[in-house]
Amino acid sequence: MNNTKRILVIYTGGTIGMVPSDQGYVPAPGFEARVRKHLNDDIVQQLPEFEVLEMDQLIDSSNAVPADWARVATLLQQHWQQYDGFVVLHGTDTMAYTAAALSFMITPMDKPVIVTGSQIPLGVIRSDAVDNLTNSLLFATSNELFEVCICFGNRLLRGNRASKLKTTALDTFDSPNFEHLGKMQIDVELYGDLLLRGDKADFCIPEFSNSSVKLLMLYPGITADMIEAPLKAADTRAVIMISYGVGNPPDANPTLIPALEDAISRGIAVVNLSHCLWGDIEQGAYSTGATLNRIGVIGGRDITLEAAFAKLHWLTSMGFDQNGISAGFTTPKAGEIKA
Ligand code: ASP
Repeated sequence: MNNTKRILVIYTGGTIGMVPSDQGYVPAPGFEARVRKHLNDDIVQQLPEFEVLEMDQLIDSSNAVPADWARVATLLQQHWQQYDGFVVLHGTDTMAYTAAALSFMITPMDKPVIVTGSQIPLGVIRSDAVDNLTNSLLFATSNELFEVCICFGNRLLRGNRASKLKTTALDTFDSPNFEHLGKMQIDVELYGDLLLRGDKADFCIPEFSNSSVKLLMLYPGITADMIEAPLKAADTRAVIMISYGVGNPPDANPTLIPALEDAISRGIAVVNLSHCLWGDIEQGAYSTGATLNRIGVIGGRDITLEAAFAKLHWLTSMGFDQNGISAGFTTPKAGEIKA
């Protein structure tokens, strides 16, 4: 870790900077002044120099839309040369979507981008805000990190491998199908052999359409209207289907397979993920799933829902067709190294 570096902190909203209101917590401006009051001089001496850039519209991240991902990426691009590393303060609810989207928009990278927030607001007793921020500032100075990470609850996770898994725990984020990149205990540990290599940063920030990617969540007894709504909507470019186990759909449902075939014939990419958080998709393991291979459904392997959603938005906005999208889920092309 190196405290002679300069870090830009981009504050987008989220619990970390929220204050109470009659309606519950709401985002509040003035984070930099407030956080500096909580950091005593001895601590500040040991931290890298940092500045806070506050977004014009601070949001609860449950209100974030794909266009917000592009706004954050654009700010990073505008300031990329002036700083050595970046911290993005974000609400936890959709942090994993934003982190994944940033990872696809900036690849490769020559500096770290660390996304963090907190479960308890700054200034509230037992808040995790200062710990998460100081850990993130330290990781943002690393000479070994060249990727988008989530730093939360003493864990450093690959941004496009992370999910929010617990509503109230302070270690709410984990990456079900990928090792942690680092850990904060008495010492800070960074697992070098897992990290992405750095290269001159390349930004590809598309104009996202907020509604082109839809979800089709399968459940026992699903009806035709629920199946057809995402597949037939005029603005749909890609659909994530959440099936069972290793990727098994109810192929005896009279609507499902014909509706998928029809959507695929109209150029819509359908990616199959599982209700299960751990493990891979294997569409050929059962005959129910093998049907999907026959009609051209893309097996989403072990990618998280958040990363698949962000990746499909990125690929469709960049103009990739079904073949390109399929390749994006089986090669490292779009930034996700494994899925
Ligand atoms: N609703 C909040 C948000 O996502 C939750 C949080 O930040 O923890 O902005």
